[in-house]
Formats: sequence, C-alpha cells, structure tokens
Amino acid sequence: MLRRIFAFLISLIMIAGMASCEIMPSHYNGKSENNGTAQRDIFAMDTYMTLTAYGDRTEEAIDRAEEKIRELDTKFSAGNPDGEIGKLNVRKQAVLSDESKYVIEYARKIWDMTDGAFNPLIYPIMKEWGFDTKEYHVPEEGRLEELVGHMDMGKLVTDKVTGEISFIDKAMEIDMGGIAKGYTSDSIMEIYREYGLTGGIVSLGGNVQAFGKKPDGDAWRVGIQHPDGEGQLGIINVEDKAVITSGGYERYFEEGGTRYHHIIDPATGYPAHAGLASVTIVSGSGILADGLSTAVYVMGYDKAVKLWREHSGEFDMILYTDDGKQYITEGIEDIYEPADNDNVYVIRAWGTVHSNSP
Ligand code: ADP
Ligand code: MG
Repeated sequence: MLRRIFAFLISLIMIAGMASCEIMPSHYNGKSENNGTAQRDIFAMDTYMTLTAYGDRTEEAIDRAEEKIRELDTKFSAGNPDGEIGKLNVRKQAVLSDESKYVIEYARKIWDMTDGAFNPLIYPIMKEWGFDTKEYHVPEEGRLEELVGHMDMGKLVTDKVTGEISFIDKAMEIDMGGIAKGYTSDSIMEIYREYGLTGGIVSLGGNVQAFGKKPDGDAWRVGIQHPDGEGQLGIINVEDKAVITSGGYERYFEEGGTRYHHIIDPATGYPAHAGLASVTIVSGSGILADGLSTAVYVMGYDKAVKLWREHSGEFDMILYTDDGKQYITEGIEDIYEPADNDNVYVIRAWGTVHSNSP
C-alpha cells in the first residue's frame, strides 16, 4: 500500500511538473480550479487517480468524468453483484449494456491477437491467489492446473439475435482488470472532447492518458516509473495518447521468501516471468494500451517484437528487461528521453540497434 501511495505522490509531482505553474498543489479528494484549469484527486477502482483539465468548462467536465469513473467502477467490477460483470459472473448468463459488451469483445480481440497471453477468464485464478480480497496465499498443488482448464474463450458466447452473453462452462468467471482502466481513460478523453476542453491529462494509478496539448502548446511530458521503485526509466512527450505501464512490482505479496505478483500467465496460473520487469505501451487507444501492457509482460521480448511488427501502426512500446536494458520501438524514438542513454536499444521493422551506435 505504501508503495502505491508513494507511486501516486510521484505521479502527482510529475503531473504538477508537466503542467503550467498555475496548478495548485494537490490535496487528497480535493478540488481546485483556477483560470480555466482544474485538477481533482479521487480514489476509485482500488487506486488513486488524478484528473487535470484546461479550458472553459473544466469543473463541469471533471464532475462528469468522476461520475463516469464511479459508474464504470461498479459496472466492470468482477466481484460486485450490483454491476454488470459481477452479475454475469454469478448468473453465468446476462443481457448487458453496449458498453459492457464492447469491453468483453475488446478483451476477446486482445486474447486473439496475443495468442491467449491476455485472457479475461483469469478471475477464478485471481481469487485463488487472494488478489480480490487481499488475503493472499499460494494455492495448493494441482489447484491452478484445474482452474487453467476453465479459461476457454470459445465457451464465452454471445447470442447474435438477443445479444445475451453466456458462459457454456459454468466454472468460468470474467475479470476486466486488465483493460478497465484503459477503457475508463478513453471515456474521459471523450468527455474532455465533448466539453470542448483545450487539453487535459489523467493518471489512473499510474496509467496516463493525455488529451490535446499543454496550455503552452507543447506536448505532455509523462514520466515512466522505474520498476525498482526510485526514479524513472525516462520521459515520453505525447499528445492524444495513452502511456500505460504494467509490472510485477505494482501489486504483489511475499510468502516463504518468494514474491508473487498480479500478472498471471494463463498457461500455468502462476505469476508470469518472461524476462521483463516492466512494459509500457504507447497508443492512441487506452483500452488497447492497457490490455497489451498486461499481455506483453506475459509474452516476453521475442513474442512482443513479433506482435509489434504485425501491429506497428497501432502501438509503440518500452520494454525494460530483468537485466536492465531498455528496448523501444522506432515509432517513439524521437519523443522518448531515456534517463540513461546506456543500454537503450531501438526495435525496428527489421532488426534492433543500439541507440548510440553510429
Ligand atoms: P494494473 O491494473 O495494476 O495497472 P495491469 O493492467 O497489468 O495492472 O492489470 C493487471 C490485472 O489484470 C490483474 O489484477 C487481473 O485483474 C488482470 N490480469 C492478470 N493477468 C491477466 C492476464 N494474463 N490476462 C488478462 N487479465 C489479466
Ligand atoms: Mg493492463
């Protein structure tokens, strides 16, 4: 928890640093507005969030955004029977809103494009480890093997006529945790657009998405947290983009001297270890960036490069390996400033080169 609060404070400092000096210092659950700028901190989706907006109707836009966040928090929460996903998990069959159907079908799309490294049917496994209640424990032998057998996306079906979604395998439960925040930040960008804002930026537990430009016309400067806890891997300059990072350092527990984190390899049910300490995805789509950050962490370097080469028009990425090297895709070469120029490599459509090589 302390780590998360620390990360939150860092992100606040980052955002304050990025924005103009008109921004007032932040307070927990505080509101502030000043000359067409507004900023608000809220706690939702089990994380700290900061919303910043520039324009004429910033306070209204942020009110609407907060309302939307709270609505989606209930709607997408896997364990809340008041919400649509929670209801589907209990009843195994439900007619859902277009929004929930969109998110489920998007999860299927990412499952498909990542050969199953992303699988939203992970919820029974998250529960088995205690990640839903924070009463963590290592599952008994054989239990995960059994649960992994109930993650067949072919058994999540949508009725073409009624639109009803059902689980053919009644042991299945769905978890939107890998994409919910990305969808939420996409929705906030939509609200900022509707209210005619000139710019804005949100951080949902370190997942950043930027709308337009800063008031001074420059791009937003977004810091990428170093997975070791202190400092940054670098800073990326973006407009109208999501910058979303996944890492095993974000949420974990320790038992018997081993660390177990919350990004699970659907093939085994165990926390994924594919040689990456952190994965950042940069994309115009928040939901895609969120889903892929989780999936690429599971996939590891080789599969990630192959995926990027097939979809290089849709996203870019920063991979930080367990042995301390940064690999960035060529689409962000000119907008990324690594904190340390050593050990930085650029992944190109053909081949990979050291960024400092002649
Ligand atoms: P965070 O939400 O902490 O920023 P991520 O975006 O990487 O981190 O999402 C992790 C969450 O995604 C987990 O808490 C769980 O709900 C879900 N999840 C974990 N592993 C997978 C997976 N392989 N495929 C899909 N969802 C996953
Ligand atoms: Mg994710």
